[in-house]
Amino acid sequence: MMTTSTTVAPPVRVRFAPSPTGYLHIGGVRTALFNWLFAQQNKGQFLLRIEDTDLERSEDQFTLDILASMQWLGLRWDEDLIFQKNRLDVYRDKVEELVANGHAYRCYCTEVEVEAMREVAMKAGKKPMYDRTCREKNENRPGQTYAIRAKIPLEGFVEFTDQIRGPIRVENAEIDDFVLIRSNGAPTYNLSVVVDDVFTKITHVVRGDDHINNTPKQVHLYDFFKYPIPLFAHLPMILGPDKKKLSKRHGAVSANWYRAEGYLPEALLNFLARLGWSHGDQEIFSTAEMIEFFSFDHVQKSSAVFNVEKLLWTNGSHIRAAKPERLRDIIVEDFAHHFSHQALTRLKSSLGVQLTALVQPKVKLLKEMAEQLVPLCTPGAVEVNLSELKWGKDGSLKGPLQAGVRHVLEGLAKKLEGAKKHERTGLDAPWGSEPTLSDIGMGHADIEQFLRQVCDQHGVKLGDLTGPMRLTVTGRSVSAGLFELLGVLPWDVLQARLSKVGTL
Ligand code: GLU
Repeated sequence: MMTTSTTVAPPVRVRFAPSPTGYLHIGGVRTALFNWLFAQQNKGQFLLRIEDTDLERSEDQFTLDILASMQWLGLRWDEDLIFQKNRLDVYRDKVEELVANGHAYRCYCTEVEVEAMREVAMKAGKKPMYDRTCREKNENRPGQTYAIRAKIPLEGFVEFTDQIRGPIRVENAEIDDFVLIRSNGAPTYNLSVVVDDVFTKITHVVRGDDHINNTPKQVHLYDFFKYPIPLFAHLPMILGPDKKKLSKRHGAVSANWYRAEGYLPEALLNFLARLGWSHGDQEIFSTAEMIEFFSFDHVQKSSAVFNVEKLLWTNGSHIRAAKPERLRDIIVEDFAHHFSHQALTRLKSSLGVQLTALVQPKVKLLKEMAEQLVPLCTPGAVEVNLSELKWGKDGSLKGPLQAGVRHVLEGLAKKLEGAKKHERTGLDAPWGSEPTLSDIGMGHADIEQFLRQVCDQHGVKLGDLTGPMRLTVTGRSVSAGLFELLGVLPWDVLQARLSKVGTL
């Protein structure tokens, strides 16, 4: 009988061990996150190991994607990155040790023979297993290829306590003498995982519960290598909206896809933390809070369902909490392709940060933010979609509204007469020297009041007047606060845009 220990010897050492056979998808990110949170909380070490022993399916582009995603998410790993491909000799040496110690044996049975054994077992209503033909033969046939199998005790049981699922016990009779090294010399997953966990002194194995059936086999291997059995935490699966396991099959689920859509890394992490873990009814967590509150005790056993609406909501919340300057910098880095060269130079200015701050409260994605910032930062008038212009409910207000906007332009021109020109230099230079309404002390409340006066004189409603103004100033019928925008855009920009109302 074997059991896991229940106390953790410090320091905590965990690892994330993705296989580079596809892009890092969000199920993998959540596994990485829970490992990382646990390591941070315990001031332990978080290791990254690339499990690339499957030479046919592993690709460098996927390794690069994993590393780039981890960096973008801020999930920094400690110590040297481990590539299993570079350790093939180690796995073979370690298995030879097991053969010498009587914990493993050479198996000369062919694949066809093993398949036949499985069928016989199944026909007899038993679990399909290798029938242990070579177990006691201790053969060494020169020149002939062989696999190496683990020699699992025939009696007794394995017992370990999963941090999420509780105690798990498996009879040894149920465990196959599984292959450690294939006849082509390749190590199997179960072998390389345990050799590396032992080598890197892992204390906690945190991974998806699709691996839970491997754990009894691995517990035997830790024991064969005389290594204290780590604590295990098998995380519940994430299901897609169709209630099927969320996987690469669902298409756009890689971490990089979320970046390109305009999710903030902290929002994706927050959302993934809540997929399966809870802390009371709190939904929005800073990364520091996640580190403080994370606990395996509050990871649920059942699968979690991915809900994109909640992810969007979480992202909007983190966007609102972020510093505008940082958001602007991310947009410059990740969404530059949305902007013309001139618009991008304007976005990089301090006014670009102010505009970002005005757009920030209403968007759920940085991509939306970029889309709204493009017209705001584009010099001169912007293209407008006339079909978005209603001119009041039935279109009859075109004349009075055009007159009202003309009046607004004349009134503002008068207010700005004599206002000091700007000396915008450096990054701000692309905006020229024209003053803004806030330069002459007009806040958004003053602007609103002024527009209301104009409305009274022309017998129109404020909501009707702001329609064509919003469309020509922002290029959109739904936008950041118009009064605030009127306050920060330089006068030449406002003039070029608002005068367009008269030509529509
Ligand atoms: N390479 C395995 C996977 O990607 C890792 C399993 C483990 O953490 O032991 O699922």
